[in-house]
Formats: sequence, structure tokens, C-alpha cells
Amino acid sequence: MNEAGSWEMPTELTMLQETARRFMEKVVLPEEAKVEHDAFTLPEDVLKRIQAEARKIGLWYVQTPAAYGGAGLSLLAQCLVAEEAAKCRMGAYIPACGAFGFDPPNVIFKGTREQIEKYAVPTVEQGEKTFVAISEPSGGSDPARAIQTRAERKGDRYVLNGTKVWISGASQSRWGIVFARTGSDRQRGNITSFIVEKDSPGLTLKRIPVIRSYSPYELSFVDCEVPVENRLGEEGQGFALAETWLVHGRVPYAAATLGIADAALRMAINWARERDLFKGKLADKQAIQWMIADSEIELRAARLLVFQAAWRADLGYDIKVDASICKVYATETAGRIVDRCIQIFGGLGVAQEMPLERWYREMRIKRIGEGPSEVHRMVVARDLLGGQKAPVLQEA
Ligand SMILES: Cc1cc2nc3c(=O)[nH]c(=O)nc-3n(C[C@H](O)[C@H](O)[C@H](O)COP(=O)(O)OP(=O)(O)OC[C@H]3O[C@@H](n4cnc5c(N)ncnc54)[C@H](O)[C@@H]3O)c2cc1C
Repeated sequence: MNEAGSWEMPTELTMLQETARRFMEKVVLPEEAKVEHDAFTLPEDVLKRIQAEARKIGLWYVQTPAAYGGAGLSLLAQCLVAEEAAKCRMGAYIPACGAFGFDPPNVIFKGTREQIEKYAVPTVEQGEKTFVAISEPSGGSDPARAIQTRAERKGDRYVLNGTKVWISGASQSRWGIVFARTGSDRQRGNITSFIVEKDSPGLTLKRIPVIRSYSPYELSFVDCEVPVENRLGEEGQGFALAETWLVHGRVPYAAATLGIADAALRMAINWARERDLFKGKLADKQAIQWMIADSEIELRAARLLVFQAAWRADLGYDIKVDASICKVYATETAGRIVDRCIQIFGGLGVAQEMPLERWYREMRIKRIGEGPSEVHRMVVARDLLGGQKAPVLQEA
């Protein structure tokens, strides 16, 4: 609270946000302007150069603990950075075009010292990507029951057999975390996670073309051997170890969608002020004013839900319900705002010379990935009405 009795972001966080914003405008956007509309990476040399610049100012692997080379930001600070980092054409799925690195699944830091040093530390050092493989053809909404990939222990190895689908970043990564069943019952207590190297014999990848150019992959495991020392935690601890990371991850995920909505809205406002139609500016028409006003109202409401969830997490509260609320509201709001902004631009809104049509396609995935809206509503309803334990949800 400030002296006037209203809520205010701490100064050090607004400074961080301003730093991220300036970096995006001065360093990232000019480089992104040189690559094609649907690109999901910058040329290797350019990426390395801007990563080095981001690293110098502390915007490097912001979710990763400082002890392992990251910035170790609070969840609230991560949200401010996520919102700014999304404000580029590829920002819905490649924040800051990769300039701030690609945080590994935070559950790796629950692993052994050797696991962290062998896998996470070089990844952060070299600016690499990683993948997380939970979803399967049998369903991603309720993975604790749906996972059929089996990991059978044979001496000092586990042998993995099964299929994962929709796995983002798999082909561009050296390693990832794979969730597999180590017990016979369809219970969350029988799921174990493993660090798996992409080039392991018995693991093959197939691209799955989807609505976005950054394709996910199908991962097929046929007698794929993983050393016992690559098991994270104990057998059956897969979801228990990952739960806090999965829940907390939804909050910056939601923040990023608001970054895109905010960028789209500012573009639409500028356009409405300039465009002449029916003897006046587009901005003079009440139908357009209401689209703009509704978008700003919903954007502010969504942002406060995101801040509230992050702030409570930083204070140590269980934010499972807060995270579901902000994930549903932010992703649905951002989708609606981008849609309205396209309407304000007319034909230009769906042209590839603007980022809007790309954002429109990518925003559509946000209501499915990281747990579909319906499952998050179920989490909220169960909290209000009582009932079974909330389901495990996952990322996209
Ligand atoms: C582009 C993309 C990238 C992804 N990246 C990854 C990744 O990197 N790693 C990974 O593991 N997964 C990833 N996913 C998978 C994603 O997490 C799943 O798609 C998601 O969890 C939904 O699972 P499903 O597609 O199997 O749908 P299903 O589980 O079959 O659900 C289908 C639909 O049923 C409805 N539904 C489900 N449960 C309920 C309920 N209780 N009440 C009412 N309706 C319900 C929802 O509308 C849901 O969309 C990605 C998906 C996409 C599209």
C-alpha cells in the first residue's frame, strides 16, 4: 500500500519491468523485424549476441535459481518480465525471441546435485532449450490417470515404452523430463519422472503440424534405456515433486498472454485514432470505443488476478486455485482482446504484415495448453463446492 492507501508495485519491480520493456524495444524487436512472419527463432549468431546482452543486465533464465546461473526472480517479478517478453511476434511461445534464455523445468532443481550439474547448469550456461513430456494420446487433461508410458526397472536402468504427444521444443533440446508409469494402478502415486536425453537409442521424434509454426512433437519410446541415476526423486514421486512448479508456472504463463493482449490493444488504439471512415476517425465511433474500453477493463482485471496469484505464492501460500483462476481469465481475456483488435483493423488485422493474425492463432492454444479452461474451472468449482482432490494439470 502507498501513502494514498492504494496498491502499488514496489519500485524495484517497476524498474525491472522498465528494463525488460526497453530491452524488447531497442534490442529484440529490431532483430525480429528481419525474420519472416512465422519464424520461431532468430539466426544463431544474432540470438547468441542478444542473449549475452540480456545476461549482462540480469534478464537471464529468470525462473532458475541464482545458485545455478539464473536470475532467481520472485513469481511476481517473473510475471512482469513475462508480460514484456511476450510483446514480440513470436512472444506467445518464444519469450523475448529467446534472448532471456529458456528456463528448464524447475523440477530439475529437486534432483540430485549431480543431475543439476550434469543437465541444468550447462543448459543455463549455454542458453539451451529443454522439453517436458507428460501428455499422451490417451489424454492430457487428466495425466495422472491417462499416462500409459511404462518405465520398468532392469538392474541399473529403466526401460521406457510408450508414446508422448504434443511435446514442445523436443527437437531443439538436448534433454527433457519424461513422466512414466512405474506401478500398475492408474494413480498419480505410480508416476515417476526421468531426465531423458533426446538422442537416447529407442527414442524417435515426429513433428506434429498444428495451428502455430512452432510445432510440437510425438515422442515414441521403444525399449529406450534410461540410467537409474536419471530418475528424479523416488519412484512414484513424479507429480508430487513437480506440483509446485506446475502450479506456479501457470501464473507467468497467464501474464505472457496479457503482454500480447496489451500490445494488440495499443496497436488498435493508434490505428483507430488515425483511420478516417464515415466523415471522422474510427476512434469517434462508439462501437469501436466500447471494444477498446471493454478490452482495457478486462485486461486490468486479468492483470490484478495474475499479480494476486503471484504475490500470494511469494508469501508462501498454496495458490492452486488462484493459479487456475488467473490462467482461465487471462488466457480467455487475451484471446477476446486480440480478436477485437483484429476487428478494429479490418482486413489489415488478418494480414501477415501485422502480428495480430499470428497472435490470434497462438492465443487459441493457450486455452488448451497448461490445462484446458474446463479443467481449471473444475479446480475452482471443487474448491468452492468441496469434493475430490483437485486434478494434476500440466503445461504446454
Ligand atoms: C501446441 C501444443 C503444445 C503442447 N505442448 C506440450 C508439452 O510441451 N508437453 C506436454 O506434456 N503437453 C503439451 N501439450 C498438451 C496439452 O497439455 C494438452 O493438449 C492438454 O492438457 C489437453 O489434453 P488433450 O489434448 O489430450 O485433451 P483431452 O484431455 O482429451 O481433453 C479434451 C477436451 O475435453 C475437455 N475436458 C477435459 N476435462 C474436462 C472436464 N473435467 N470437464 C469438462 N471438460 C473437460 C476440455 O475442453 C479439453 O480441451 C501441448 C498441446 C498443444 C496443443
